[in-house]
Amino acid sequence: MKIVVQKFGGTSVATPEVRAKAVQKVINAKKSGYHPVVVVSAMGRNGAPYATDTLIALAKNECVDTHPREMDLLMSCGEIISSVIMVNALRAKGYEAVALTGGQAGIITDNNYGNANILKIQPDRIRMYLEMGKIPVVAGFQGVTEDGNITTLGRGGSDTTAAALAKALSASFIEIYTDVDGIMTADPRMVPNASVLKHLTYSEVFQMADQGAKVIHPKAVEIAMSCNIPLIIKNINGNGPGTVVSSYYESDYAQTAEHDPNQVITSISHMLNRTQVIIKNLDPELQNIALSRLAENGISIDLINIFPDKMIFTIDDNDSDKTRTILDQLGCSYSMIYNCSKISAIGTKMKGVPGVMSRIIKALLKNQIQILQTADSHTTISCLIKGEDTAKAMMALHEEFKLYTR
Ligand code: ADP
Ligand code: ASP
Ligand code: MG
Repeated sequence: MKIVVQKFGGTSVATPEVRAKAVQKVINAKKSGYHPVVVVSAMGRNGAPYATDTLIALAKNECVDTHPREMDLLMSCGEIISSVIMVNALRAKGYEAVALTGGQAGIITDNNYGNANILKIQPDRIRMYLEMGKIPVVAGFQGVTEDGNITTLGRGGSDTTAAALAKALSASFIEIYTDVDGIMTADPRMVPNASVLKHLTYSEVFQMADQGAKVIHPKAVEIAMSCNIPLIIKNINGNGPGTVVSSYYESDYAQTAEHDPNQVITSISHMLNRTQVIIKNLDPELQNIALSRLAENGISIDLINIFPDKMIFTIDDNDSDKTRTILDQLGCSYSMIYNCSKISAIGTKMKGVPGVMSRIIKALLKNQIQILQTADSHTTISCLIKGEDTAKAMMALHEEFKLYTR
């Protein structure tokens, strides 16, 4: 049985008009001889009545501390509503479809509410419907614990659902439908002349997603890579080829990258709402205690640099109050810069190419962008900057590495 998993993001199921396009994609897959398994996100973005952000706001406006278990129960409703509406749209076109919650689709997770990890998938029920000729429409972004509690998989987690089901069902490929033409050299909301990348490797896309490119969830890329199932990112509004993500290159980019220094960078990712924390005069023992306390409180730290007289790292803006409380309790002397952004230049070909970091720094300084911190690995160079400089900095790097010509 040839299976394709088709995931429709929030904007791809937001209105009757766009749902009609989604239905057509499912029908096309069926007509091409595939058995489609559909995964849906909650309908629309922030402000839409059943969007995830709207559900979160509903709880937060009424109560300061909704418990994580109840928060997940509430958030899971957006995708469940969407699955029922999508089933109705398919039935209206004469196709038998069945709506399933993540739990009913066999997605078993741990109880890490808000960011649960998939432990296993029991796809028997989906297979049964496929054999009956029905189209399973699975609510994305959710699973269930062994003892029956509903969990969610982290923001953007419907992509994870799609990849995990594809792996469990040995699907031929995964289609991710969204509101852009594919994976681009940068977020087009920040860099209007960003261009679509036709073919990328899993590791490149993982880096992009891990450094903030919201177009796909990093866990979804990891899962697809682990079973070598191609991921295709496409625009719901059109019939373009989108971006194919697989383990090898076919693009012109691969051939030219070795010879053209402009092609060592594939894309620029950004992560908003970062806080830089600078702790001064910290003895090593207190340093260890501070790091342990942050970890115990679920605060993830990034860009950590330790100097003899200070320690610097970044956290999410949302964690700054908790961090402040912990550091005050320990009597640390510290300062924080809120609302920073991390921008990252990514390219698996930059390894061993000299001068990439200096080009990045020069390009930013030429545009009067203050650099608060830097970090680099074999495939990524990141700079922390002030939030208000984000678009300017991304455009400067996009220009420097001539990414618009792809
Ligand atoms: P969906 O609801 O379809 O999952 P998302 O909002 O999660 O949609 O992801 C799509 C958005 O990702 C785009 O609208 C775009 O603004 C953003 N984005 C960020 N980085 C990139 C990139 N490198 N390429 C394409 N889109 C990007
Ligand atoms: N609806 C969820 C979110 O907004 C999951 C997703 O869209 O993938 O994060
Ligand atoms: Mg998404």
